[in-house]
Amino acid sequence: MGAASRLSSQAKPVLAVIGSGHAGFEAARTLERQLSDAEADLLMISDTDHLNYSSLLPLVASGVIDPRHNAVALHRTLRRTRILLGEVSSVDLEARAVTVLHPGGMQRRYPWDQLLLTPGSVPRATGHPGVEDQALRFHTLADAVELRDHVLEQLQVADAATDEAERRARCTFIVVGAGYSGTEVTAQLQLLTCRTLPRFPTLGRDMLRWILVEAGTGVLQELNPKLGRHAGARLRARGVDIRLCTTISELVGTKATLSDGDEISSHSVIWTAGITPSPLVARLNLPTERGRVSVAPDLGVPGHPDVFAAGDAAAVPDLTRPGQLCGQTAQHATRQGVRAGQNMAARLRGRPPRNYRHRDLGFVVDLGGRDAAANPLHLPLTGLAAKVVTLGYHLWAIPTAGNKLRVGTDLVLNAIAPDQDVRVRSVNDETPLRLTHNGLRSRESP
Ligand SMILES: Cc1cc2nc3c(=O)[nH]c(=O)nc-3n(C[C@H](O)[C@H](O)[C@H](O)COP(=O)(O)OP(=O)(O)OC[C@H]3O[C@@H](n4cnc5c(N)ncnc54)[C@H](O)[C@@H]3O)c2cc1C
Repeated sequence: MGAASRLSSQAKPVLAVIGSGHAGFEAARTLERQLSDAEADLLMISDTDHLNYSSLLPLVASGVIDPRHNAVALHRTLRRTRILLGEVSSVDLEARAVTVLHPGGMQRRYPWDQLLLTPGSVPRATGHPGVEDQALRFHTLADAVELRDHVLEQLQVADAATDEAERRARCTFIVVGAGYSGTEVTAQLQLLTCRTLPRFPTLGRDMLRWILVEAGTGVLQELNPKLGRHAGARLRARGVDIRLCTTISELVGTKATLSDGDEISSHSVIWTAGITPSPLVARLNLPTERGRVSVAPDLGVPGHPDVFAAGDAAAVPDLTRPGQLCGQTAQHATRQGVRAGQNMAARLRGRPPRNYRHRDLGFVVDLGGRDAAANPLHLPLTGLAAKVVTLGYHLWAIPTAGNKLRVGTDLVLNAIAPDQDVRVRSVNDETPLRLTHNGLRSRESP
């Protein structure tokens, strides 16, 4: 690994952003808008080459939206930022350099003059034996594609199986966590399985079982209990078994034990119940709150005037609710990214930073089909009106015109054309790029 090298030969300050999620992307876009080429070199380091618009992931999993249409390509949007694909393995706050592990194993150090930390969060399932190793995750674009294939595969395997217990286990799906991702993915994938079922003459509607397990007292409880009641009622009406005040105690093989004592055989336990900041945060040796980097209201890291943090990985004080932290939502991350970019530009020019303050604008939850729940500006809506608001909001919020067009076209096509409920992989495709791979082999799903 060589010594840290400058991006350009001129001694321009380097403003670096770690992570290309909602916060990092908006920060880089703001820096490009606010700073001229002559003022700074901009650098973004991320382990993905896109911004994943996560709010629409359930629609990617259900096949309504093409995965690439949900990905905002960094190279098309951030034209003046140097984008490096790789994982930041460490940050040297004294020497002001980050170490990046690039694909292929190459490791390099890059210097910075100002740094923004936006590495986001990852799923967390600690304290639940077996779950961390065996449950399915739902966090990235690749997860959404994998999950869709997995769910379709279960019905295909169930159709071929002769053992009744095996058939039932394949048709049983357990989602843990009734926040927005758990509620939406249950709603979308349950509809996917219902519409796919007629393809399999040996499988009856009574075989299909969707169970939504939630440790709290309600669906969407932390976001909006009223919307949650509507969402819960709609899911129950479709046959989803919602278990409140319940969690998964253990997952051994295909046997899931719930805290209410029920033992359920399933090949599909989907974990959406908890997140924790990216592992990078623990390696920074910075003060944290609930695992997130402690920051001042202007998103600066105390004691490090040139370091900022934002998004899910930062413990940002919520100035509209004194004593509380901002929620880990795209709504906050997007706006914190803008504020972080503005404050980095202000610091470069010797101007004072401004605090982050945002009062939430309400939530939108897509329940599949024509159903949704939303409270734009805290006006509660359900059914078709909520659906229009929900999709309209996402089309407005997804960052680029190209993505709006692609996602909008997918929504229209899905409304008028027959679905494309097919898997991406063949049964031989577990390691599709390996030349050594050959032949059909048995593959046990988790
Ligand atoms: C399925 C799902 C549905 C959601 N739905 C909603 C919704 O409807 N409404 C809402 O408001 N919020 C929703 N959220 C939450 C929202 O997505 C997050 O709050 C938001 O993405 C946080 O943005 P961020 O920029 O902090 O982090 P992220 O968007 O997670 O981005 C972090 C980025 O940093 C990268 N990274 C991490 N560590 C490293 C490293 N060491 N080196 C290099 N790169 C790294 C990651 O790969 C990622 O690209 C949902 C989340 C999920 C998973």
